[in-house]
Amino acid sequence: MSKVAENHSLILSQIAAACQRVGRNPAEVTLVAVSKTVGAAEVALAIQAGIHDFGENRTALFEEKQQLFPEERWHFIGSIQTNKIKDFVGKAALVHSVASDRALVAIAKRAQALGVTQRLLLEVNVSGEQSKDGTGPQELDRLLDLAQGLEGIEVRGLMTMAPQADERTVRACFQALRELRDRFTVAYRGAERIFLHELSMGMSDDFPLAVEEGATIVRIGRTVWL
Ligand SMILES: *Cc1c(COP(=O)(O)O)cnc(C)c1O
Repeated sequence: MSKVAENHSLILSQIAAACQRVGRNPAEVTLVAVSKTVGAAEVALAIQAGIHDFGENRTALFEEKQQLFPEERWHFIGSIQTNKIKDFVGKAALVHSVASDRALVAIAKRAQALGVTQRLLLEVNVSGEQSKDGTGPQELDRLLDLAQGLEGIEVRGLMTMAPQADERTVRACFQALRELRDRFTVAYRGAERIFLHELSMGMSDDFPLAVEEGATIVRIGRTVWL
C-alpha cells in the first residue's frame, strides 16, 4: 500500500467519523486532493488509491496536470486573474474561487465562446481577514444577482477558507458559510443558474470540523501526500 493510499483511507475514516457525530452520510462529502505541491507520479499513485478529484491553485499547473490526467475531475481553487481564465474554463469540473464581478463576467464570456457551462462556487471571506481572498458576505447578494443573468455559468455553492485560529472561531466561520448558503438558497429558489448546494470548506487542519458543519467538499493537501 502506498503512503498516499494509507493517508487516503485515514482521511476517509476521519470524514466518516465526523459524519457519524452529526448524523450525516459520508457519501455527501467529496474529498478534493490538492496536488499543488506534488508532481505527476504522486497524482498517479493517488488515482490508484481511488482519488479522482484534484485541486490546483495555479493556472499553469492546473492546465499541465489536467492534460496529463484528463479522465480525472480537476478543480481550480486559486485566485483568479482574468487574463488567465482560458487555462481552466471549460476544463475545470468546478471553479471554487470566484470572488468578483469581473471574474464572473470573464468566465461567463469564455464559457459562452466555448459553448459550455462552467460550474463554479463563490468564495466568501467570512472572517473578514485582510489577507484572505473572497467576497465579503454583504457583497454576495449582488454577485448572485449578477450571476443569475449570465449565460455560460452555473453557481453550485459557496467556498471559504477558515482563519488559523482556535476551534470555536473556525467552527463559527464554517457555520456562517452554511447559514449564508441556506439563506441564499431560499432567496434564489427557482433562479436560473443558481443551485446553492455545495459548501467547499475544510483543509488539512480543520476538515473534521468543516464536515460536522456541513461541508460537501473538503480540499486537502498536505495530509494526502505527507
Ligand atoms: C493549498 C490549499 C488547500 C489545501 O491546504 P492543506 O492545508 O495543505 O490541506 C486548500 N484550499 C486551498 C484554496 C489551497 O490553496
